[in-house]
Amino acid sequence: MTAPFVQVALDVPLDRQFDYCAGEIPTQVGQRVVVPFGRRQQVGIVLGHSADSAFDPARLKTITQVLQHEPLLDADTLALLKFCADYYHYPYGQALLSALPTRLRQTQAAVSRKQYLYALNELGLAAGLDAIPKRQAIQRRLYSALLQQVGQHGSGMSEAALAALSPSWRKAVNALQQMGWLTAHEVIAGLSLASPSTLMPPILNPDQAEAVTRILAKAKEFAPFLLHGITGSGKTEVYMRLIEQQLADKPGQALVLVPEINLTPQLEARFRSRLPQFPLVSLHSNLGESERLQNWRLAQSGQARIVIGTRLSVFTPMPHLRLVIVDEEHDGSYKQQDGMRYHARDVALVRAQRAGVPIVLGSATPALETWHNAQTGKYGLLSLGQRAVAAAALPQIRCIDVTKQPLQDGLSPALIEAMRTRLARGEQSLLFINRRGYAPVLLCGACQWIAPCTRCSSRLVVHLRQGRLRCHHCGHEEKIVRQCPSCGNADLHATGHGTQRLEQTLAALLPQARILRVDRDSTRRKDALTDMIAAVHADEVDILVGTQMLAKGHDFPKLTLVGVIDTDSALFSPDFRAAERLFAQLMQVAGRAGRADKPGEVLIQTAFPEHALFNALRSQDYAAYAQALLQERAITQFPPYQYLALLKAEANEFALVSGLLRYAADWAHAHGTDVLSYEPVRPQMERLKGMERGQLLMQADSRAPLQCLLRTLVAALREHPLNAKVRWAVDVDPLEF
Ligand code: ADP
Ligand code: ZN
Ligand code: ZN
Repeated sequence: MTAPFVQVALDVPLDRQFDYCAGEIPTQVGQRVVVPFGRRQQVGIVLGHSADSAFDPARLKTITQVLQHEPLLDADTLALLKFCADYYHYPYGQALLSALPTRLRQTQAAVSRKQYLYALNELGLAAGLDAIPKRQAIQRRLYSALLQQVGQHGSGMSEAALAALSPSWRKAVNALQQMGWLTAHEVIAGLSLASPSTLMPPILNPDQAEAVTRILAKAKEFAPFLLHGITGSGKTEVYMRLIEQQLADKPGQALVLVPEINLTPQLEARFRSRLPQFPLVSLHSNLGESERLQNWRLAQSGQARIVIGTRLSVFTPMPHLRLVIVDEEHDGSYKQQDGMRYHARDVALVRAQRAGVPIVLGSATPALETWHNAQTGKYGLLSLGQRAVAAAALPQIRCIDVTKQPLQDGLSPALIEAMRTRLARGEQSLLFINRRGYAPVLLCGACQWIAPCTRCSSRLVVHLRQGRLRCHHCGHEEKIVRQCPSCGNADLHATGHGTQRLEQTLAALLPQARILRVDRDSTRRKDALTDMIAAVHADEVDILVGTQMLAKGHDFPKLTLVGVIDTDSALFSPDFRAAERLFAQLMQVAGRAGRADKPGEVLIQTAFPEHALFNALRSQDYAAYAQALLQERAITQFPPYQYLALLKAEANEFALVSGLLRYAADWAHAHGTDVLSYEPVRPQMERLKGMERGQLLMQADSRAPLQCLLRTLVAALREHPLNAKVRWAVDVDPLEF
């Protein structure tokens, strides 16, 4: 007997499920259906069945269509998403639907397009690179890459791999095909098995061997581990051994999370050639919709044994999960910044726990939260000592004291000279600007006093136009002081200066250099970053100028110099995570220099060469620095010793924002047992896209009271008259303020 009523989750901003009358076809939990909602048809997920409904049955509508004959989401995935919806205070229906590939959110039945692998044929091989005109840079790039594949992966390059080389790959492929140089093989169900590598896997060094042994000792239970080791220390090798072991028994699956789309092709190629016995798919937003859908289905059906993916793939149903790996676990891009603001690393931990499988978090510079957990024994700590390949020496790191050198538009003579030398040698340089989270503080050049907040442990941020100093944590505000209260010096200045002109400055100083700027503006276009990275590999660039986007694990063999400028604002930033982030970025960016046989050099311009951060960096001593930062966090009462939640609000009038936040703050004061709630403040970016913004910070020394308050607060806000006029969201464990 089928129950007459069905509960359906829909992608609507209401925290509830909807009742429908069951249709002719019986439905199962997790199945995808189409239902009438308002005047439209919407895709929903069946959550349950019942004998009666709280609504008038006569007015309930009936399910229009059942889209799949087997459930799409299994009970584990539904439960994981339910947990996340609760924890991040986001409507369950929206959480569920947004975890699906776009095609599955649409009301048509999903179809998959055919996939091809491309390879050079004999004619193409015989033609040679020189047969392609120089101005056809993309064709030449693709050709070179295809040439490298010959003999390696006999089957050729996937569309995703080609797309990683250039966004206009398809045009170039068409051109090469017209010349008759390419063969295209259809990929059967997306699971082409690579030809196995002929290389013998390396013998693990003692640190690696111990890591593998200790993790495998807990092969069949939930066991979190931190795998701590610098770039090149052999973490990936450890991942591959673990996967090999955990998947030896059919039908085990492994989930590997990476922070950035651009890193997946590299890792994918390595996994495919080393673990050819396990069908592998990748999941990230650079895939076309149909490929994404297909890969998702392969993971969900258990056919794909390894899934490599970015943040969202943490929700991919995998019925036989045996191992979870989170590479570069400290990376901020694991945190979703809109919609459901989840942290994929944290969700991965929950997922591993629910599935009862080991999880490995890998990093050279773990998040302090993770490090703290490893120190207190909550996670097993596994350290890899040195670089696995002895030849790849660590780069030399030096500070240039900018108080002792005249700067030319922010550049020191020593740094300019170093770039000139690289240029002469035909090597590449990278100028790294730390601009993210940039907030000027008021600094005394004589005694290094920095304007503090008198009401909390933060530093005040300079708002020059208003002539005010503001605390972004508690809302305290004062006038900009003219004199240093500590030493009387009248020459106070806001640290950090504009870096926009850097590219022009360089062009004037080194006119023969080919300069490429990589930042949020220059990479706005989809795929722009991929294109730029490929240009660096193709040796079309001498000097790279960029922000943290460049710091991530790209391997540029010709890059031998990294110059770091404008970091001092982060040393004294009001954002309590700025120093942690800077250290991680500098470690990572230092890892860019001298990866191949050429030794690398890192030059850091700073007014504080003796700062603890640089000392730790020079000795590559993460542990010591982390310890110091943790002590600071304990004193100042920040995470990991405190748990935070941020209520963010925006509207076209500030009065509306402030009205809603005022109500929330009062609510928190009245109902927030064991929760410290601050006053509403305006964030650094007061106005964004024409919207006035404000936020309210709440903190507690454990999760439970904070969650308890948020539950009632969110419910109250949903009923509040301003709810319709103010866009608001809760950010639990926020990274950005
Ligand atoms: P990470 O992931 O920490 O950056 P990898 O696992 O990529 O490090 O290792 C860096 C390089 O060292 C790779 O080329 C890898 O093949 C090699 N490698 C790793 N472990 C060993 C080992 N035990 N013996 C020899 N080479 C190794
Ligand atoms: Zn002073
Ligand atoms: Zn304050």
